[in-house]
Amino acid sequence: MLYEGKAKKVFATDQPELVRVYYKDDATAFNGQKRGQIEGKGAINNQMSNLLFQYLAEHGVPTHFVEQVSERETIVRKVDILPLEVVVRNVAAGSFSKRLGVLEGTVLPRPLVEFYYKNDELGDPLLTDDQALVLGLASQEDLAELRTRALEVNRLLQERFAACGLALIDFKIEFGRLPSGEIVLADEISPDTCRLWDKDTHQKLDKDRFRQDLGGVEDAYQEVWRRMKGGLSA
Ligand code: 5GP
Repeated sequence: MLYEGKAKKVFATDQPELVRVYYKDDATAFNGQKRGQIEGKGAINNQMSNLLFQYLAEHGVPTHFVEQVSERETIVRKVDILPLEVVVRNVAAGSFSKRLGVLEGTVLPRPLVEFYYKNDELGDPLLTDDQALVLGLASQEDLAELRTRALEVNRLLQERFAACGLALIDFKIEFGRLPSGEIVLADEISPDTCRLWDKDTHQKLDKDRFRQDLGGVEDAYQEVWRRMKGGLSA
Protein backbone atom coordinates (compact mmCIF):
# COMPACT_ATOMS: atom_id res chain seq x y z
CA MET A 1 0.00 0.00 0.00
CA LEU A 2 1.31 3.44 -0.97
CA TYR A 3 -1.26 5.62 0.75
CA GLU A 4 -4.47 5.41 2.78
CA GLY A 5 -6.89 8.33 2.59
CA LYS A 6 -10.27 8.90 4.23
CA ALA A 7 -12.27 7.01 1.59
CA LYS A 8 -9.69 5.13 -0.49
CA LYS A 9 -6.49 3.11 -0.33
CA VAL A 10 -3.87 3.26 -3.07
CA PHE A 11 -1.64 0.29 -3.92
CA ALA A 12 1.39 -0.10 -6.18
CA THR A 13 1.11 -2.40 -9.20
CA ASP A 14 3.84 -4.19 -11.14
CA GLN A 15 3.81 -1.26 -13.57
CA PRO A 16 5.40 1.87 -12.08
CA GLU A 17 3.13 4.24 -14.03
CA LEU A 18 -0.08 2.63 -12.72
CA VAL A 19 -1.66 2.31 -9.26
CA ARG A 20 -4.66 0.39 -7.93
CA VAL A 21 -7.28 2.30 -5.96
CA TYR A 22 -9.57 0.52 -3.44
CA TYR A 23 -12.77 2.32 -2.40
CA LYS A 24 -13.78 1.96 1.29
CA ASP A 25 -17.19 2.39 2.93
CA ASP A 26 -15.67 4.87 5.43
CA ALA A 27 -17.24 8.30 5.46
CA THR A 28 -15.92 11.46 7.07
CA ALA A 29 -17.19 15.03 7.16
CA PHE A 30 -16.16 18.39 8.58
CA ASN A 31 -12.47 17.70 8.03
CA GLY A 32 -12.60 14.29 9.72
CA GLN A 33 -14.48 15.40 12.86
CA LYS A 34 -17.53 13.30 11.93
CA ARG A 35 -16.84 9.68 11.07
CA GLY A 36 -18.99 6.76 10.02
CA GLN A 37 -19.65 4.06 7.48
CA ILE A 38 -21.99 4.11 4.53
CA GLU A 39 -22.63 0.48 3.65
CA GLY A 40 -22.00 -0.27 -0.02
CA LYS A 41 -20.65 3.24 -0.72
CA GLY A 42 -17.23 2.01 -1.89
CA ALA A 43 -18.71 -0.16 -4.62
CA ILE A 44 -21.11 2.56 -5.77
CA ASN A 45 -18.53 5.37 -5.78
CA ASN A 46 -15.99 3.26 -7.66
CA GLN A 47 -18.40 2.18 -10.39
CA MET A 48 -20.12 5.54 -10.70
CA SER A 49 -16.86 7.44 -10.84
CA ASN A 50 -15.54 5.10 -13.54
CA LEU A 51 -18.72 5.48 -15.58
CA LEU A 52 -18.40 9.27 -15.41
CA PHE A 53 -14.65 9.34 -16.11
CA GLN A 54 -15.22 7.22 -19.22
CA TYR A 55 -18.06 9.51 -20.29
CA LEU A 56 -15.86 12.60 -19.78
CA ALA A 57 -12.95 10.98 -21.67
CA GLU A 58 -15.28 10.23 -24.60
CA HIS A 59 -16.09 13.95 -24.61
CA GLY A 60 -12.46 15.08 -24.69
CA VAL A 61 -11.61 15.44 -20.99
CA PRO A 62 -8.37 13.56 -20.17
CA THR A 63 -8.55 11.53 -16.94
CA HIS A 64 -6.44 9.12 -14.88
CA PHE A 65 -8.86 6.21 -15.49
CA VAL A 66 -7.43 2.99 -16.97
CA GLU A 67 -9.53 -0.05 -16.02
CA GLN A 68 -12.01 -1.21 -13.40
CA VAL A 69 -10.78 -4.50 -11.91
CA SER A 70 -13.53 -5.24 -9.36
CA GLU A 71 -16.59 -3.63 -7.77
CA ARG A 72 -14.33 -1.64 -5.45
CA GLU A 73 -11.00 -1.51 -7.31
CA THR A 74 -9.72 0.44 -10.29
CA ILE A 75 -6.39 0.82 -12.04
CA VAL A 76 -5.52 4.46 -12.66
CA ARG A 77 -2.52 6.34 -14.01
CA LYS A 78 -0.16 7.44 -11.25
CA VAL A 79 -0.19 11.24 -10.95
CA ASP A 80 1.03 13.94 -8.62
CA ILE A 81 -2.20 15.38 -7.24
CA LEU A 82 -2.21 19.19 -7.49
CA PRO A 83 -2.66 20.74 -4.02
CA LEU A 84 -5.87 22.47 -5.14
CA GLU A 85 -9.47 21.33 -4.85
CA VAL A 86 -11.58 22.79 -7.62
CA VAL A 87 -15.25 23.41 -6.73
CA VAL A 88 -17.90 24.33 -9.29
CA ARG A 89 -21.29 25.64 -8.11
CA ASN A 90 -24.52 25.99 -10.08
CA VAL A 91 -26.85 26.50 -7.11
CA ALA A 92 -26.06 27.99 -3.69
CA ALA A 93 -25.50 25.41 -0.93
CA GLY A 94 -22.99 24.32 1.69
CA SER A 95 -20.11 26.61 2.57
CA PHE A 96 -21.10 29.17 -0.11
CA SER A 97 -24.55 29.65 1.45
CA LYS A 98 -23.12 29.78 4.95
CA ARG A 99 -20.22 32.15 4.28
CA LEU A 100 -22.04 34.57 1.99
CA GLY A 101 -25.56 34.36 3.44
CA VAL A 102 -27.18 33.12 0.23
CA LEU A 103 -30.25 30.95 0.72
CA GLU A 104 -29.62 27.29 -0.14
CA GLY A 105 -31.27 26.51 -3.46
CA THR A 106 -30.70 29.94 -5.01
CA VAL A 107 -29.77 29.38 -8.66
CA LEU A 108 -26.55 31.24 -9.53
CA PRO A 109 -26.56 33.42 -12.67
CA ARG A 110 -23.62 31.41 -14.05
CA PRO A 111 -21.43 28.54 -12.83
CA LEU A 112 -18.91 29.64 -10.21
CA VAL A 113 -15.42 28.13 -9.97
CA GLU A 114 -13.57 28.24 -6.64
CA PHE A 115 -10.15 26.96 -5.61
CA TYR A 116 -9.41 25.53 -2.17
CA TYR A 117 -5.99 24.75 -0.71
CA LYS A 118 -5.86 20.96 -0.21
CA ASN A 119 -4.50 20.95 3.33
CA ASP A 120 -6.21 18.95 6.11
CA GLU A 121 -4.33 20.76 8.91
CA LEU A 122 -5.75 24.07 7.71
CA GLY A 123 -9.19 22.63 6.90
CA ASP A 124 -8.91 23.15 3.11
CA PRO A 125 -9.24 26.98 3.09
CA LEU A 126 -10.69 28.95 0.16
CA LEU A 127 -7.87 30.32 -1.98
CA THR A 128 -7.66 33.33 -4.28
CA ASP A 129 -5.74 33.00 -7.55
CA ASP A 130 -3.11 35.39 -6.22
CA GLN A 131 -2.66 33.36 -3.03
CA ALA A 132 -2.21 30.20 -5.10
CA LEU A 133 0.42 31.98 -7.24
CA VAL A 134 2.32 33.48 -4.29
CA LEU A 135 2.35 30.13 -2.48
CA GLY A 136 3.64 28.47 -5.66
CA LEU A 137 0.75 25.98 -5.69
CA ALA A 138 0.08 26.47 -9.39
CA SER A 139 1.04 28.74 -12.27
CA GLN A 140 -1.21 31.30 -13.96
CA GLU A 141 -1.47 28.90 -16.93
CA ASP A 142 -2.40 25.99 -14.63
CA LEU A 143 -5.16 28.03 -12.98
CA ALA A 144 -6.58 29.06 -16.35
CA GLU A 145 -6.48 25.45 -17.55
CA LEU A 146 -8.14 24.15 -14.37
CA ARG A 147 -10.91 26.75 -14.64
CA THR A 148 -11.60 25.91 -18.29
CA ARG A 149 -11.54 22.15 -17.61
CA ALA A 150 -13.76 22.49 -14.55
CA LEU A 151 -16.42 24.42 -16.49
CA GLU A 152 -16.31 21.84 -19.28
CA VAL A 153 -16.68 19.01 -16.74
CA ASN A 154 -19.60 20.90 -15.19
CA ARG A 155 -21.38 21.26 -18.54
CA LEU A 156 -20.93 17.56 -19.35
CA LEU A 157 -21.91 16.34 -15.87
CA GLN A 158 -24.99 18.58 -15.72
CA GLU A 159 -26.16 17.03 -18.98
CA ARG A 160 -25.44 13.46 -17.83
CA PHE A 161 -27.14 13.91 -14.45
CA ALA A 162 -30.14 15.74 -15.95
CA ALA A 163 -30.78 12.63 -18.07
CA CYS A 164 -31.27 10.77 -14.73
CA GLY A 165 -33.56 13.39 -13.22
CA LEU A 166 -30.77 14.79 -11.04
CA ALA A 167 -29.78 18.44 -10.59
CA LEU A 168 -26.04 18.99 -10.13
CA ILE A 169 -25.88 21.63 -7.40
CA ASP A 170 -22.09 21.70 -6.97
CA PHE A 171 -19.08 19.39 -6.93
CA LYS A 172 -15.40 19.14 -6.08
CA ILE A 173 -12.80 17.72 -8.45
CA GLU A 174 -9.07 17.17 -8.22
CA PHE A 175 -6.45 17.14 -10.94
CA GLY A 176 -3.11 15.38 -11.17
CA ARG A 177 0.04 15.80 -13.23
CA LEU A 178 1.47 12.92 -15.29
CA PRO A 179 5.26 12.50 -15.59
CA SER A 180 4.91 14.17 -19.03
CA GLY A 181 3.59 17.32 -17.32
CA GLU A 182 0.08 16.84 -18.72
CA ILE A 183 -2.74 17.66 -16.28
CA VAL A 184 -5.53 15.07 -16.07
CA LEU A 185 -8.70 14.75 -14.02
CA ALA A 186 -8.06 12.43 -11.03
CA ASP A 187 -9.61 11.34 -7.69
CA GLU A 188 -13.35 10.55 -7.99
CA ILE A 189 -16.76 11.92 -8.94
CA SER A 190 -19.50 10.44 -6.75
CA PRO A 191 -22.23 11.38 -4.25
CA ASP A 192 -19.32 11.95 -1.81
CA THR A 193 -18.00 14.78 -3.97
CA CYS A 194 -21.15 16.15 -5.65
CA ARG A 195 -24.37 17.65 -4.36
CA LEU A 196 -27.17 15.97 -6.30
CA TRP A 197 -30.84 16.80 -5.81
CA ASP A 198 -33.87 15.17 -7.37
CA LYS A 199 -34.78 17.69 -10.06
CA ASP A 200 -38.48 17.80 -9.13
CA THR A 201 -38.67 17.22 -5.36
CA HIS A 202 -35.20 18.68 -4.55
CA GLN A 203 -34.63 15.71 -2.25
CA LYS A 204 -30.94 15.51 -1.36
CA LEU A 205 -29.32 12.38 -2.80
CA ASP A 206 -25.70 12.81 -1.70
CA LYS A 207 -23.30 13.00 1.24
CA ASP A 208 -25.23 15.91 2.79
CA ARG A 209 -27.58 13.20 4.15
CA PHE A 210 -24.60 11.93 6.18
CA ARG A 211 -23.23 15.40 7.02
CA GLN A 212 -26.61 16.68 8.21
CA ASP A 213 -27.90 13.42 9.81
CA LEU A 214 -30.88 13.33 7.46
CA GLY A 215 -31.11 9.50 7.43
CA GLY A 216 -31.54 7.33 4.36
CA VAL A 217 -27.88 7.75 3.40
CA GLU A 218 -27.39 4.27 1.87
CA ASP A 219 -30.70 4.52 0.02
CA ALA A 220 -29.70 7.86 -1.50
CA TYR A 221 -26.40 6.49 -2.87
CA GLN A 222 -28.22 3.44 -4.23
CA GLU A 223 -30.91 5.60 -5.83
CA VAL A 224 -28.32 7.73 -7.63
CA TRP A 225 -26.48 4.64 -8.86
CA ARG A 226 -29.74 2.96 -9.96
CA ARG A 227 -30.60 6.00 -12.06
CA MET A 228 -27.09 6.36 -13.49
CA LYS A 229 -26.77 2.71 -14.50
CA GLY A 230 -30.05 2.77 -16.32
CA GLY A 231 -29.35 6.21 -17.71
CA LEU A 232 -33.10 6.73 -17.43
CA SER A 233 -35.04 9.51 -15.86
CA ALA A 234 -36.53 8.88 -12.41
P1 5GP B 1 -18.77 23.07 0.24
O1 5GP B 1 -17.65 24.04 0.00
O2 5GP B 1 -20.11 23.72 0.01
O3 5GP B 1 -18.65 22.37 1.55
O4 5GP B 1 -18.61 21.94 -0.86
C1 5GP B 1 -18.83 22.20 -2.22
C2 5GP B 1 -18.88 20.88 -3.00
O5 5GP B 1 -17.59 20.28 -3.00
C3 5GP B 1 -19.82 19.82 -2.39
O6 5GP B 1 -20.39 19.09 -3.46
C4 5GP B 1 -18.91 18.94 -1.57
O7 5GP B 1 -19.38 17.61 -1.57
C5 5GP B 1 -17.59 19.04 -2.33
N1 5GP B 1 -16.43 19.06 -1.44
C6 5GP B 1 -15.74 20.14 -1.00
N2 5GP B 1 -14.71 19.77 -0.22
C7 5GP B 1 -14.74 18.45 -0.16
C8 5GP B 1 -13.92 17.46 0.49
O8 5GP B 1 -12.92 17.75 1.16
N3 5GP B 1 -14.30 16.17 0.32
C9 5GP B 1 -15.38 15.80 -0.43
N4 5GP B 1 -15.70 14.49 -0.52
N5 5GP B 1 -16.15 16.68 -1.07
C10 5GP B 1 -15.84 17.99 -0.94
